[in-house]
Amino acid sequence: MTTTTKTTTTKTTTTTATSTGLGSKLAYLTRALKTPTIARVWEDLAAQARDRNWSHEEYLTAVLERQVADRESAGTVMRIRTAHFPQVKTLEEFNLDHLPSLRSDLLAHLATGTFVAKAENVILLGPPGIGKTHLAIGLGVKATQAGYSVLFDTASNWITRLATAHQSGQLEAELKKIRRYKLIIVDEVGYIPFDHDAANLFFQLVASRYEQGSVMVTSNLPFGRWGEVFGDEIVAAAMIDRLVHHAEVLTLSGDSYRTRARRELLAKDRDN
Ligand code: ADP
Ligand code: MG
Repeated sequence: MTTTTKTTTTKTTTTTATSTGLGSKLAYLTRALKTPTIARVWEDLAAQARDRNWSHEEYLTAVLERQVADRESAGTVMRIRTAHFPQVKTLEEFNLDHLPSLRSDLLAHLATGTFVAKAENVILLGPPGIGKTHLAIGLGVKATQAGYSVLFDTASNWITRLATAHQSGQLEAELKKIRRYKLIIVDEVGYIPFDHDAANLFFQLVASRYEQGSVMVTSNLPFGRWGEVFGDEIVAAAMIDRLVHHAEVLTLSGDSYRTRARRELLAKDRDN
């Protein structure tokens, strides 16, 4: 170290820390606490604390803050990876001006993730291209940032997963495993009609999470047409009851974002 600002006091104290075995003790303690960031930063921050005359409380806060920041960002990265989003899309990238039918206060509320804490559901309904998948991923990402585990898949993949488990007599175990995720996202209900078995499996998925874990569903069909998807009005009605009992239902209307983008490009072309 060539900096002259480091005073003799710093050196003496550091020497004291190591000579009294505090360094190795801290190495041991941070390992035991599983706080690698503290192990990495305590010494530099201690020097800073001495240079800047931090109080003990300020030093402790600085050290803990670094650990928490690292842990939160590492956890979020992990949760986003395990959520299996088809693409990572954020709410910040979502253009609200294109979708006046979406209540922005409601979206902001959902973005806090409190609905996950309360095991409430979110249903996004609207025509193709309106931004349902984008919003579902964006809200899913927010939930991971709030510390919740999330799992994303299309409705047909969820059914495949449940059918495989059912065939090997593992449906209950599978549903239990899925319940470990605080939020599951079921994208594209309605694109492919379900047969009788698939409808029943989907019903069981929804029922197994009722008031226990959140479900987010996107669909291009209004509830009134879910009977067609599930091939059975009664199963559809029973499922909708459970889904919407504690839920925010966002019905989106307007132009497809894709179509609108194309139309605007064409208009610009004409004007030139
Ligand atoms: P849906 O799932 O309703 O069919 P998507 O979410 O897949 O629609 O949206 C289609 C495409 O348009 C995606 O690439 C998405 O990111 C984009 N998109 C849709 N709405 C918006 C918006 N309001 N702002 C920014 N991008 C949008
Ligand atoms: Mg979609």
